[in-house]
Amino acid sequence: MRKIICIIVFLVLLYVPCERVMANELFPKKDKYIIVIDPGHGGENLGTESNPNYKEKDIIMKTAQALVEELKKYEEFEVYLTREEDIDIELHERAKFAKSVNADFLFSLHYNASENHTLFGTEVWIPLYAPFHGYGYKFAYLQQLQMQDLGLFSRGIRTRKGDDNKDYYGIIRECAARNIPAVIIEHCYIDESRDAIYCDEDSDFEEFGRRDAIAIAKFFGVHEDLSDIPEELYKISKNTIVSHTLEDHSGPNVCTITEEHADYENGVLTVQVKATDKNTQIMYYTYSIDGGKTFSKFYPWPDSDLLTGEQKLSVSLMLSIPDGHIPKVAVRAYSKNEFYNTSNILKGFDAFITPTAPPALQAPLKEVVMQKETVDNEKRSVVSIFKVVNLQPEKFKLSIKRFWLLLLFIFFWVFWLLLGVRFLYRYFQKKTDERKH
Ligand SMILES: [Zn+2]
Repeated sequence: MRKIICIIVFLVLLYVPCERVMANELFPKKDKYIIVIDPGHGGENLGTESNPNYKEKDIIMKTAQALVEELKKYEEFEVYLTREEDIDIELHERAKFAKSVNADFLFSLHYNASENHTLFGTEVWIPLYAPFHGYGYKFAYLQQLQMQDLGLFSRGIRTRKGDDNKDYYGIIRECAARNIPAVIIEHCYIDESRDAIYCDEDSDFEEFGRRDAIAIAKFFGVHEDLSDIPEELYKISKNTIVSHTLEDHSGPNVCTITEEHADYENGVLTVQVKATDKNTQIMYYTYSIDGGKTFSKFYPWPDSDLLTGEQKLSVSLMLSIPDGHIPKVAVRAYSKNEFYNTSNILKGFDAFITPTAPPALQAPLKEVVMQKETVDNEKRSVVSIFKVVNLQPEKFKLSIKRFWLLLLFIFFWVFWLLLGVRFLYRYFQKKTDERKH
């Protein structure tokens, strides 16, 4: 018995320090970590203005302030901001400042926008070269997990090479030149409806900051819960270069489409799409039902995990075909750097019949479902258009709830009304009785 207890105690004692060491392996252990937060843009440099409600430089500051506030809760962090005022500072000056305070890491905060307002999702840009690549990757992974947890679609962890083979992005390049790991966090696209719901008001921008802080605390091993740090991150060493973070300069080399099932009565066409890219994962797809003249908005490629680099190369898509339409279907698969390949055109169908719901009810619900689609990452393999077809039960549930509330409301007022009538009746009866006597 004694022996067994001794063995258990020994294993526990062995486990505790082991876990501590494991947790700190993401970054070398220190008593104090010097963190520099870089709110991008400022002054005349507004950042993106694609959302008319705000400028990037302003919302970045809100995120930065919440982030600093959160980091200050840890005694292990000494935190600096590259700018506290609304002024623009040259990128090399920001890096120089980080060097002057002996920074362990610089985090540059940004929000994204795309030229045609079509892209959505969150991403982190990290250094190209060791040892900063490994540090950047580990932090970015934890940060993207926080963003996914919020409901955003991860566009993954990325690197970009400039003409001189150095890091393309100035802040990363300037920091690398000064021996400081730096990353650019592009929280989300402020000009696309599916992301815009996450950056609508002050509390949203602050939430991004708090989540960045959690990722930073986990990265340095000072967060109270390190149990959810993925095993694979401990395997990344200072010399690792993660292949799926590298840039891709061409579209998918394969993109073919075949018919799986045509449900004419319900207006749903199921197609199988095969798409592969030699260098990277497939990120988005769009589809056309008019033979490639016009294409839908972007959807996440089902079962493609940009964060881990895993994906399914063949997926089923369910497309809603409008009433009376004879579809000619094509799909475009987009790889990580938004280069695409268009599939063959599927044709030879008869006219589809789509069950029509009252338009006034269907229209707003459709938008809500599309927004929710990015929230629920597990369900994102289902085409939102198809979900609209499946909306009826949910709508029914909603009206049943309303119906009961209405019934309760009516019952409540009828009860008081009857009580009132009874009271008045007795009152007048009493009066007439008095008069009679
Ligand atoms: Zn920016």
